[in-house]
Amino acid sequence: MKIVLLGPPGAGKGTQAQRLVEKHGLIQLSTGDMLRAAVAAETPVGLQAKAVMDTGGLVSDEIVIGIVSDRIDEPDCANGFILDGFPRTVAQAEALDRLLGEKGTSLDAVIEVVVDEGILVSRMENRVKETLAAGGQVRKDDNSEAFRTRLEAYRTQTAPLSDFYAKLGRLKTVDGMQSIDDVGRQMDAIITQVVAA
Ligand code: AMP
Repeated sequence: MKIVLLGPPGAGKGTQAQRLVEKHGLIQLSTGDMLRAAVAAETPVGLQAKAVMDTGGLVSDEIVIGIVSDRIDEPDCANGFILDGFPRTVAQAEALDRLLGEKGTSLDAVIEVVVDEGILVSRMENRVKETLAAGGQVRKDDNSEAFRTRLEAYRTQTAPLSDFYAKLGRLKTVDGMQSIDDVGRQMDAIITQVVAA
């Protein structure tokens, strides 16, 4: 099963992706996590991506498409994956269709986590507090300035993907304002439908 999770930063995509990993044995492919690993390892991609990530902008399509293309070729992805944070632009969505088409496959579902934008900043602030309380390291882009840029990037570059996938008849939505468990149940219902189709 190949699933894309769409939604703004703070919508809960990562949390839901992890739940799907545990429940359905899928692999989570988070381009944000892959890029942060590349930054930490100071790879050429990481060195290129770091500044733009710190300020909340989008890394170039070329870089992220390259990362995803390499990753989905690995054997552990053969049975499917959940893309969390990719695609984020129409060009990335088109590239994804092309990459999957070349392998004779396609996406099974695109699930958008729909939330009221007003709650996103406080969710990010809570995440920072929880991370600090647990003695963890706060993400460099979890501050109000970078978060504003991330939201703006979402509005202008990623939100058009809802229409893109809706026109292809692939878009499903869940109400992301509900509890983590309730959102998870909505996701499970969609997956059950997809498997049955
Ligand atoms: P995330 O963990 O998904 O919030 O991503 C953190 C940051 O990584 C984003 O703000 C971007 O700078 C970068 N990033 C992650 N995924 C993508 C993508 N698909 N396209 C461009 N930039 C990305």
